[in-house]
Formats: sequence, structure tokens, C-alpha cells
Amino acid sequence: MITKLAAAPTTDLCTKVPSDATDNRTDVLIIGGGPAGSTAATLLRGYGHQVTLLEKSRHPRFHIGESLLPENLPLLEKLGVGEQIRAIGMQKFGAEFVSTVHGRSEVFEFSECWNKDRPFAYQVRRSQFDEILIRRAAEQGAEVIEGCRVTDVTLAGAGEGIKVRAEHEDGRSESWHARFLIDASGRDTFLAARLGAKRRNPEHNSAAIFAHFAGARRDTGRGAGNILLYWFDHGWFWFIPLADGATSVGVVVWPYYLKSRKSSLQDFFLATIALCPPLAERLAGAAMITPPEATGNYSYTATLSHGDNYLLLGDAYAFIDPVFSTGVWLAMNSAAAGAEAVDTCLRQPAAAARALRAFDRLMRHGPRTFSWFIYRVTSPTMRDMFMNPGNPLRIKEALLSVLAGDIFGQTPIWQSLRAFKGVYYVLSALNLRRSIRAGRQHRRNISEQSGQLAS
Ligand SMILES: Cc1cc2nc3c(=O)[nH]c(=O)nc-3n(C[C@H](O)[C@H](O)[C@H](O)COP(=O)(O)OP(=O)(O)OC[C@H]3O[C@@H](n4cnc5c(N)ncnc54)[C@H](O)[C@@H]3O)c2cc1C
Repeated sequence: MITKLAAAPTTDLCTKVPSDATDNRTDVLIIGGGPAGSTAATLLRGYGHQVTLLEKSRHPRFHIGESLLPENLPLLEKLGVGEQIRAIGMQKFGAEFVSTVHGRSEVFEFSECWNKDRPFAYQVRRSQFDEILIRRAAEQGAEVIEGCRVTDVTLAGAGEGIKVRAEHEDGRSESWHARFLIDASGRDTFLAARLGAKRRNPEHNSAAIFAHFAGARRDTGRGAGNILLYWFDHGWFWFIPLADGATSVGVVVWPYYLKSRKSSLQDFFLATIALCPPLAERLAGAAMITPPEATGNYSYTATLSHGDNYLLLGDAYAFIDPVFSTGVWLAMNSAAAGAEAVDTCLRQPAAAARALRAFDRLMRHGPRTFSWFIYRVTSPTMRDMFMNPGNPLRIKEALLSVLAGDIFGQTPIWQSLRAFKGVYYVLSALNLRRSIRAGRQHRRNISEQSGQLAS
């Protein structure tokens, strides 16, 4: 079947891939040069394929999402950028959860994970991080074209190739004929939107406001690079110290709260920070140095991760709430798995279906594993557990391994994680009234319709 996908979210069917003499040809065409697209490009070059990567903006460009996970580090080494990331990164040994309800905080150090090999990660400025990754892809021989937005894609059956049309900043349009297409377009969700395959997450619904600050009061010593997470009545805040002295601060709130905004985004953001005294105190002498930005309605999944000769990576496939700083790791890990699957599809077509099924399993595993925790992280029971972390049956080590992103390998955390979940359900049952109230509140919180401010 051949499917032409144009800018509108409708799908036209036609009979054959239009390919004319002026089309460029490539093995793999990648839409988007964020962490997923650039990682896939570098790895596919390593497998010996011709790669063209089209990026609509120009690096360095701003992107939110600065906190990395320890499990990402081996992949950065494999890509050959470990040294460069160390040079721009702020070492992050763990995460500190601050509960105003309990009046204290709890630090979770990656050194206490099940697997003690990787005790830290990095906080990075994404403009620098993403530029390092895309330049690496170009160094490895990928054709990287920036300022070039993909506008149309025509999908065809296995072995028939794909046609892609893109528009350059100067208005010129250009076409490519590719054997395989990778959609790494991030939250633009190029293919999922056009295939009608994008589904809003019915179990979670939140929005974010964020900016960078100078002059925030930061910790010193080993904890200086830790991410701080603050719960408050309408969601949670992050506080991410960057290596150059700036601090990324953001708030993730329920939709009803964002809708209550009457003032400018900047005033609203500052007023929201004032609702969380321990954070406000850290920012008392600080200045906002980037204009605040807001992102709404942002959890979704695509109903498919691939077709015969295309696949979706990173945020182009799914986006989950960033409370555990999972986005960049999920994006880059999906790219590593995706590159392997594409290599198999191109070299051994007979093994393609099996490779794509394995890729699909990996794509679903990450969001599913993290989502159980995400849906519950603002519940009173989970807060209590985070504030009083014991390690019977190694449940704290297993939780920390999840927080480190160690969910794709051989680390045997699963039984302990089930025990952790068991404890959660028992504690919820023991506090039944509170749990029912919290469940009702959660359903109201994620409802788009709700205009009620939570008490
Ligand atoms: C508020 C917020 C906070 C977050 N915090 C964290 C965090 O602390 N840690 C973390 O790991 N993750 C975090 N994330 C998530 C993280 O930013 C993403 O998961 C990650 O950037 C995904 O990488 P990607 O390559 O899939 O997409 P992106 O990084 O978004 O890259 C996609 C690229 O595709 C390009 N593109 C889009 N459409 C086209 C087109 N038609 N043609 C050509 N190019 C195109 C875009 O310009 C972009 O460069 C956060 C996200 C949000 C919204």
C-alpha cells in the first residue's frame, strides 16, 4: 500500500511512489536532529548506510529537558561524544525530593542503585548537548541539512521506498527517495499526527512552564548538581543546576491550574513559584534570564511504532511526564534500537518483521514502566514512601535503578519492584479514605473540563 502524507492530518491514498529524476536518493532519511535523530544517524553510519538528516531549525537551538540519567552514559561513549559531554555537563549524583507536606526533603543517590557501576549522570544545556550530537552525526558522514522542514511524505510497502519532500528556509523545496524513513521529529509527531495515530494519554494530563534563572541559591559540594523536585498543591517543580551557573526551573501543573492564568506568563510563573516557599527562597535573589515558555497537554503515545519501511523514535512516538528525567534516555535508547532494526531491515529483509517486533516491544516497555510511577508520584501514599524510603527486599535499590533508567538491561530489579508496588497498594488500603479522596482529586486534576482549583 502507498500512503501520501501531506501537511494536513489526513491521509491520501495513491497507487505508486512518485519518483522523478530530480529526487535525491539515500538509504535512510531521518526527520529531526534532536537526540533521537542524531543518535540514529551516527549509529546507522557506523552500520555503513547512507543517511540524510533533515532538521527544521539550526543548532545550537534552545530545547527544554536538561537532566540526563546515568544509563545514558554508555551510549554517549559509544557515539564518541563522552569527552565533550563531560566538558559541558554538571555532574548529577542524584535527585532530591522536597515535600512541603512533610517539611523536609530526601536525597536519592544513584550510588545506591542495584547496579553500583554508574553513580552519576549530567545536567546539560540542551543547545550544547544537541549540537554535539548532530555535529557528531555529520562527522561520521551523515548528510545533515539544517533549516530544512519536512512537509510531505509518501509511504509505500516493503521494498518500495519512501518519498520525502522538504522546504528550505529560503523557500526552495527538495525531494528525497529513501529506502527507509525514521521519524524523530519530537513533539511535532510528524508521522503519528498525519497517520491519525497519536493518542492523548487518558491517565495523565499536565502542562509545564519553564525558564532559566541566574543567581539562584544552589547547593555546593557533592549535591551541587542534583536535580531538586518540589511537590506543591497544583503539581511539582524542577530545579536543575547547569554548569555555567544558570539554573533551569520549571513547573508541571494540572490543566485547570494553567487555565486559571489571568496575568502574563511571566507574572503567572513567578506567582506560582511563590506558592512553593522552599523554592521561592532559593530564587529570592535570582533573575529570569530566558523568556518563560509554556507547553500544554503533553502526554501522548502513538498507536504504532513502525511500518514496513519506517519507524518512530523518541518523542515522535510517545511523550511521558518528565518528572523522572526520562525523555532524552528514552529517545536515545529508542534510536539505538531503531538503528539496529533498520540495519536488519535493509540487509536481511527476511528478518525485518522480527526485528521490528523486537523494536516495538522496547518502545512500549519504557513508557509503560515509568508511567506506573508517574501516575502516582503526586499521590499522598507515594509521597510518604519517597519521604521514608526503606530497603526491605531491596525495594529502594530497585526504585533507584528505575530512577537511573536501568530498565532495559539484565539488572534483576523486577521482583523487588513488584514488592515496592505491593507496599504501595497495602499503604493505600490502610489509608483508604485518603486514597479514595486522592484518586477522585487525580481524576479531577487530569480532566480538561475541570475549572476547579484544587484545595
Ligand atoms: C517541560 C519538559 C521538561 C523536560 N525535562 C526533561 C529532563 O529533565 N530530562 C530529560 O531527559 N527529558 C526531559 N524532557 C523530555 C525531552 O526534552 C525529550 O524527551 C527529548 O528532547 C526527546 O528527543 P527527540 O530527539 O525525540 O525530540 P526533540 O529533542 O524534540 O528533537 C526533535 C527535532 O525534530 C525537529 N523537527 C520537528 N519537526 C520537523 C520537520 N517537519 N522537519 C525537520 N525537522 C523537524 C525539531 O526541530 C527538533 O530539533 C522534558 C520535556 C518537557 C516538555
